[in-house]
Amino acid sequence: MTLAKTPQSSTTTVPEPPAAFTPLIDKNAACPDLTTRTIAYYSMEIALSPALPTYSGGLGMLAGDTLRSAADTAAPMVAVSLVHRKGYFRQMLDASGQQTETDVAWTPETTLPSAAKTVTVTIQNRPIKVTAWRFDVVGAVGHVIPVFLLDTDVEGNDLWDRRLTDHLYGGDTYYRLCQEAVLGLAGTALLHDLGCKPMVYHMNEGHAAFLTLALLQEQIGEKSLSEATDADADVVRQQCVFTTHTPVPAGHDQFGMDQAKTVLGLERSATIERFGCLHNGLLNMTYLALKFSRFVNGVAMQHGKVSQEMFPDYTIHSITNGVHAATWTSQALQDLLDKEIPAWRHDNQYFRSVYGIEPARISNCHHLGKQRLFKLVAERTGQQFDPKVLTLGFARRVATYKRASLLLQDPKRLLKIARKIGGLQILYAGKAHPADTAGKGLIKDVFETAQKLNSSALRIIYLENYDWELGAQLTQGVDVWVNTPRRPYEASGTSGMKAALNGVPSLSILDGWWIEGCAEDVTGWAIDDGDTEAAEAQSLYDKLENSIAPLYQRPMAWARMQQSCIAMNGTFFNTHRMLGQYFMNAYFPQSPLPDVELGLGEAISNETSVLTPA
Ligand SMILES: *Cc1c(COP(=O)(O)O)cnc(C)c1O
Repeated sequence: MTLAKTPQSSTTTVPEPPAAFTPLIDKNAACPDLTTRTIAYYSMEIALSPALPTYSGGLGMLAGDTLRSAADTAAPMVAVSLVHRKGYFRQMLDASGQQTETDVAWTPETTLPSAAKTVTVTIQNRPIKVTAWRFDVVGAVGHVIPVFLLDTDVEGNDLWDRRLTDHLYGGDTYYRLCQEAVLGLAGTALLHDLGCKPMVYHMNEGHAAFLTLALLQEQIGEKSLSEATDADADVVRQQCVFTTHTPVPAGHDQFGMDQAKTVLGLERSATIERFGCLHNGLLNMTYLALKFSRFVNGVAMQHGKVSQEMFPDYTIHSITNGVHAATWTSQALQDLLDKEIPAWRHDNQYFRSVYGIEPARISNCHHLGKQRLFKLVAERTGQQFDPKVLTLGFARRVATYKRASLLLQDPKRLLKIARKIGGLQILYAGKAHPADTAGKGLIKDVFETAQKLNSSALRIIYLENYDWELGAQLTQGVDVWVNTPRRPYEASGTSGMKAALNGVPSLSILDGWWIEGCAEDVTGWAIDDGDTEAAEAQSLYDKLENSIAPLYQRPMAWARMQQSCIAMNGTFFNTHRMLGQYFMNAYFPQSPLPDVELGLGEAISNETSVLTPA
């Protein structure tokens, strides 16, 4: 087993700002006119630049990709998040796969223009000043989506409050509740102070749901929240759109009412209770968002249905996620597309005409991506992968439901297949949340099995610090993207979409987006449902041995599959299409979507038991 090199020794003195922290944007760049921005997008995390640690995983990537598509298509949007001065974290893995973490400190002062506004909100019964930094997401033809990153590190604030916007998903529930209060309450106050009066407020997950309280207060003016009526609440409802991302109740943020009273105050807490936003006696951010939204959606067709079963009192629609094509396609492929179908940057539907491009040319682009990836692997680990050998990729947030070790479930069979098919290479990557002991254990399990299996026929490497950069290289360079979630826990998944856009087929459990994206033997392969994990692993091995490896031996047929991945799945699983659907169905619906029929397909109804938290 090889592992990623340990990072350069960290210095104890204040380091020089790395190149990445030099200004990303001209600090004097003028802010676009905010009075014309009609949609405000709120997200606890947003992946804005590979140089900024303001995201943890899929949710933040989706937010960033959404805004990049909004910029490309000149959407009238503005966005709000937190500054996360210490980031999420940098992952280090020792020789046994034990994860440790360090902060990723950055300084918005030296990097971004200031919003030049400070608002004051009352939380924890004391005033807190909140300022913001502006990141401009610039589209293909120059349209700008300003993103305001809220910052409580302001002179005069309580010292503890100054650290509130430091750590993404760090700290305890009290810290999280305070952060969510900052996002929803201060975020809304700031937008309004900046002269922005959106018609639509889009909550990307429940973290931002306190914005509804800010809007309710605005609706009733000087009056006390205790006087807000159902009619007032309905005015707020008409402005709000909510996207839920979690198919299990345990995944939804909830807080004890004592905590809510301390952080939000008695009046706000009582209002939340009065409008029926508690669930099992707890303040539940999802119920708050549901109550105050006129449109709610899940992030893939099945996820919408699962969510509808979880929340039968509300109507839940589906808008399937996408990825920002220009962000995730390899440079070689971008060059090819610019030459053959230049309109793709403006309108991703033109990806369909990839069918008019010689498959071998697409294959060549992929081959360059594979070489580039293996160069990175060599730099990081000293290990040389063979570009001729079939290579699988598995990289994602380490969470138990994602079952990182399913692929290694039957090591003997895997090794046998590797020998039979002329070799197999597997690249792993993924971070476990610092507090997730079980997740960290999973990484060690993968290390241990890999150590035993590594041989001339089968090579397995776990790469350190999965992030934007590594995610891009992996999805551009491996041959097959593997995903093995426990159904129906994968709300959507987006990394397989990045792979598809680069002509990389998926081998995946039929969950999330893959139910819509899998055309067997055309865009990839489905791992059959089994009663046990072992049965699912055997299906994975069967596909690998009997379908994937034989096709890989036929370069022309493989190239046609790569072409289909882009032409069929690239055309649909992108954020240009997704954002178009938000406009049509959520933001400014001209003809509302019909309600989802209750009652799921057979495959899912067997699984409803997993919807109750363990
Ligand atoms: C795309 C991406 C994700 C989300 O991928 P999933 O398939 O949803 O797990 C997470 N982390 C990084 C770094 C990514 O690039």
